Amino acid sequence: MTPDRLLELQLTDTHIDQLRTRMPKLPEVVASAAADGEVAGWEREAAALRARMAGLEADITASEQANEVIAKKRARLEQQLKTVIAPREAEALMHEIALLNVQRSELDDAELEAMDGLSRAEESLAAHGEREAGLREAARVAADHAAVARSASEADIAASLLARDALRAEFDAPTLARYDSMRTAHNGVAVAKLNGLRCEGCHLDLSRGEVDNIKRLPVDEWVECSNCGRLLVR
Ligand SMILES: [Zn+2]
Repeated sequence: MTPDRLLELQLTDTHIDQLRTRMPKLPEVVASAAADGEVAGWEREAAALRARMAGLEADITASEQANEVIAKKRARLEQQLKTVIAPREAEALMHEIALLNVQRSELDDAELEAMDGLSRAEESLAAHGEREAGLREAARVAADHAAVARSASEADIAASLLARDALRAEFDAPTLARYDSMRTAHNGVAVAKLNGLRCEGCHLDLSRGEVDNIKRLPVDEWVECSNCGRLLVR
């Protein structure tokens, strides 16, 4: 085992980690998520317009039903009016009929307003509908591009995993166990290059004396950085 090979294993593992981290941030993947978001926004807006239309339709139906009730009541009062003789009674009936007419006119106004609102909502929905095909097509194309980018990245990862397996085969089990636990403890980076006095893992300098001592050791002896604890390759 030479430390250089261990550094090679580290670089390969780091490359795999980076590819995995970058996968959800690939521009094509981000663009696809944004295009899906556009479609979802369109669907929410369409649902809101349909809900508004359903509410207005319910208002119109309610106005019509109320109008029917009033019309029946008025017909009954008009029938009574033909049979009463006492002027006071006739006056009371006429007053009641006048009140019903006012109610009816208010209902008609409300119904007209609801019908206006309904036709505006229908127009909005039609205009909104014109955007649908374009948005869905853009999302489909973006999803295709994202799939291509993802599979290129996956192929890269698969190739790197093969290279990593080949590298790991060079080491004995205790070395790998130590490497793996160091990687877990040090945020994925177990092995760092000693560059002059500097540990490339933590970017801190060791003392001149420490480095001189390290240099006197056999090249395959494991040395840990006194600052971060990573394995140093010199
Ligand atoms: Zn260090």
